[in-house]
Amino acid sequence: MAQGAIAMNPALLSALRQALPTEVILLEERDREMRSGDALSPARAIHVDQEAWWQTPEVVVLPTATEQVAAVVKLACQHRTPVVPFGGGTGVMGGAVPPREAIVIDLKGMNRVRSISAEDRVAWAEAGVILSDLDAAVQQHGLMVGHDPWSTPIATVGGAISTDGVGYRAARYGSMGDQVVALEVVLPTGEVLRTRAVPKRASGPSLERLFIGAEGALGIITAAALRVFRLPEERRFAAFAFPSFEAGFQAVSEMFSLGLRPAITDLTEHPDDEGDKVVMVLTYEGYREEVAAQGQRAATIALGHGGADLGPAEAEAYWRERHRPGERFKQEQMPLLPRERWRGGWPRGGHGDYLDLALPASCVLDYRRQAQAICAEAGVSIHEYALWTAPELYSMIITRAAVESNPREGGPSGASLKEKDRASFREVSDRLLRLAQDMGGSMEYCHGIGLRLAHLAEREWGPNLEAVRRIKRALDPYDIMNPGKLGV
Ligand SMILES: Cc1cc2nc3c(=O)[nH]c(=O)nc-3n(C[C@H](O)[C@H](O)[C@H](O)COP(=O)(O)OP(=O)(O)OC[C@H]3O[C@@H](n4cnc5c(N)ncnc54)[C@H](O)[C@@H]3O)c2cc1C
Repeated sequence: MAQGAIAMNPALLSALRQALPTEVILLEERDREMRSGDALSPARAIHVDQEAWWQTPEVVVLPTATEQVAAVVKLACQHRTPVVPFGGGTGVMGGAVPPREAIVIDLKGMNRVRSISAEDRVAWAEAGVILSDLDAAVQQHGLMVGHDPWSTPIATVGGAISTDGVGYRAARYGSMGDQVVALEVVLPTGEVLRTRAVPKRASGPSLERLFIGAEGALGIITAAALRVFRLPEERRFAAFAFPSFEAGFQAVSEMFSLGLRPAITDLTEHPDDEGDKVVMVLTYEGYREEVAAQGQRAATIALGHGGADLGPAEAEAYWRERHRPGERFKQEQMPLLPRERWRGGWPRGGHGDYLDLALPASCVLDYRRQAQAICAEAGVSIHEYALWTAPELYSMIITRAAVESNPREGGPSGASLKEKDRASFREVSDRLLRLAQDMGGSMEYCHGIGLRLAHLAEREWGPNLEAVRRIKRALDPYDIMNPGKLGV
């Protein structure tokens, strides 16, 4: 037995060994360490008790069947041991980060596409199927997956549903949660729940919705029936440069009000780049006549708001390169142990953060102005502004150089200066998140709460948090299912 696994309750370990094939129980230290973190860097999570998290779990289980997941959860329930579902480990909020005593259930062993029906436009995929593998499988049937995030080459079906992720083509096809037609879920007491794969029912509330964006805190998704789409007859690209972010925002807002839904809608500004441009990248896809009509009307709107036509090349390059960050992460970061991933710190040095906020469209420009004032006062630069997939989904990347501690100050005061500097940057980030909440928006639109945002969950949910806690208690009476996540 590997060192470190010994601390585990021997009765539970022995019960796991009886219930499961040997090869799905991973006790080797490296296997366990590889599941000790996801894509949240500890530097972005200063509100988190770092002694309690990012711990090497006692045991990892790599099940290959729903019954195995159910067996592990039942045993964990009997032994009151936390269980953490783990997909691709690409979540950026720490949703899959385990406490030490946890059993991590890595769903990547459940990687079969169970069925694909072009007629029903539905594919049943197990939770551990990587999104790009699912897309490749349905393409064989002339179909495609609607959820297309940067992390397509590494994220799993179960993880994407549990964070209700948003991808490049969400403007047309919706978020990952919108793709869900039915779910198979292992509840925190070990029972298996399966819903019917029809797109609309009026026979009671939707159970699927309960598990979408639930970060594995209410149950483990083992399979999902997902809406899939016929491959588009045609795809066209366009890009426009605007004299200001405000002008670009008005163009996007007008397009959405009219009902235009280019598959990719991205308005981005990089204020500190030389020759800063506000660029709107559009990709239209679908049936031929619709693509032509969308292209024509979107161009009229963009030009009407002062946009300059940049031609298709920029948008075509954007399309080709769109999974590059995910590919790079897969090659460079995924082979490393989670604790080794963040040694280099923020890619541009100093402090950095990205905020993905949902705001009422009417508040976006006011929010931007107020955020600029907060950042200017705190010496924080805004490296990027973006609207991604809808006028309401507004993102910013913020950065600040780290203070240089004076070497003559000696260790402790230099260290505390650095600590203060880090905390003051994080406070700016939190002020920006709180501002979004105060304007009636949400602090996050695609990555979840996890550990990173748990300290703001009470503020986000308000009195509704109690209702969520009651649901959690009803389904998970012993609080074993990914405890400490989702802010509940
Ligand atoms: C380079 C990069 C690019 C990214 N781009 C995007 C993007 O474009 N859009 C976007 O929305 N996000 C993006 N992300 C974030 C991340 O990829 C998504 O949050 C993704 O949906 C997480 O999937 P995963 O399989 O890696 O989940 P994990 O990180 O393994 O888990 C995420 C959460 O879901 C839970 N979970 C995992 N599997 C299950 C299951 N089967 N049942 C129940 N709960 C489960 C975990 O416990 C955790 O709480 C990016 C991340 C990186 C590193």
